[in-house]
Amino acid sequence: MTRKIEILDTTLRDGEQSPGCSMNTQEKVIVARELIRMGVDAIEAGFPISSPGDYRAVSEIGALAGDKVVVCAFSRAVEKDIDCAAEALKTAARPRIITGIGVSPTHMNEKLHMSEDEVVACASKAVAHAKSLVDDVEFYAEDAGRADPAFLVRVIQAVVDAGATVVNVPDTTGYCLPDEYGALIKMVSDEVKGIENVKLAVHAHNDLGMATALALAGVRNGATQVECTINGLGERAGNTALEEIVMAIRMHGDELGVHTDVVTPELTRASRLVSRITGMSVQANKAIVGANAFTHSSGIHQDGVLKARATYEIIDPSEVGATGSDIILSARSGRAALRHRLQELGYTFEDSDFEEIYERFLEIADQKKEVYDEDLESIVQERQRDIESIYTLNALQIQCGDPLVPTAVATITDEDGKKVVVSATGTGPVDAAYKAIDMVVGIESDLQEFAVKAITRGIDAIGEVTVRITAPDGRVYNGRGSDNDIIVSSAKAYINAINRMIQASRARA
Ligand code: MN
Repeated sequence: MTRKIEILDTTLRDGEQSPGCSMNTQEKVIVARELIRMGVDAIEAGFPISSPGDYRAVSEIGALAGDKVVVCAFSRAVEKDIDCAAEALKTAARPRIITGIGVSPTHMNEKLHMSEDEVVACASKAVAHAKSLVDDVEFYAEDAGRADPAFLVRVIQAVVDAGATVVNVPDTTGYCLPDEYGALIKMVSDEVKGIENVKLAVHAHNDLGMATALALAGVRNGATQVECTINGLGERAGNTALEEIVMAIRMHGDELGVHTDVVTPELTRASRLVSRITGMSVQANKAIVGANAFTHSSGIHQDGVLKARATYEIIDPSEVGATGSDIILSARSGRAALRHRLQELGYTFEDSDFEEIYERFLEIADQKKEVYDEDLESIVQERQRDIESIYTLNALQIQCGDPLVPTAVATITDEDGKKVVVSATGTGPVDAAYKAIDMVVGIESDLQEFAVKAITRGIDAIGEVTVRITAPDGRVYNGRGSDNDIIVSSAKAYINAINRMIQASRARA
């Protein structure tokens, strides 16, 4: 049997730190469910002391995870952070506190203003404190990639002696070359006494486009845990992409002598889900999950693939769930079929909630005849967006064309149930709709990006709009909306972004 590599997913912590990628608690719970289905070993669910929203997410995910997966909470090497993490993790059957401190000269001199001795003392004190609250404690040596290797070994020895169960040696800034990073992992694994009794983790960033190569170099040199995110989401250029490292291990497992327990046919769905929830689209040529990952367009390649798939394709698309489902629902499918399909997609509902989903399904099915999984996911997520909304779009009427003046009449309800009807003109129908919405909301925000995408095939497909706005304080928010009418999708997306902006500012208060 090959050596098992544990997968710690940090989409909900490191991934969420990407600009505009903040998720609310409900959305984090949806992602966590998918991660559990996918069979990851650990979920880093948030940074509890950073906000009430993060605290709630850790606590709710702890409750739903049961004993299936380790649930981790992030903290700095500060007592109040660690206490708060432990408190949030009370619901978890398998809680892990993650704590750590910077160990590179840059971090110690410029950020922490601490000497090497002080850092070692602080690190082991933090681990010992966390250890008094939970059994499973992970220590991260922040910016290990740029640390003095001898000092790194010293810090890690101290935290292992203090009872750490997992030691993470991250290349926080994505600076290392893969063989250098591999050598660093080997050094820790050779020189730290007792390291064989703890898990050794790698955590890499993609600043030089090598996050997956770095993680793999770590695995080759003794790492037993890889920290990664769906779609490689994360600070700056992002983290190691879960789908890439998992498939690299799968394709080369025999020669590497390792395996993971990830259920790879879930990869495509997880990617789509995270992309839709965060509003961060996946580039078409992205490895494993990009829209073109299994598309062949040149004649020579098409000819080859038709003769034998292996000529130009190393992965069978069905291995990563990229083939889509053969099951297509229609208006005649009925409740049982819809409920069954939703269950297979991982969604279960109370009867009253299900009825609402069914009604929306019928509307869509009437309009477009064939309803695909992607449409169902859109219906469910659209509804989940509505639940926490502050402003809701009740009706939108647009007049546009040539030579008309584009005019929007919108009916919007606020959270107190007050209904307002407004009208505005604009340079185009979307502009008119947005101006009408602005009149109700009364907050100045800047529209940065606007993108429309058809969720499924055909001219009658649901159109999904993603917008990105900048709040007056400079923070960025994404919003999404879907409908058969793209102007309605656009208005819903804008209201969704505004709702997120307001929710986030309340969560911080
Ligand atoms: Mn990171």
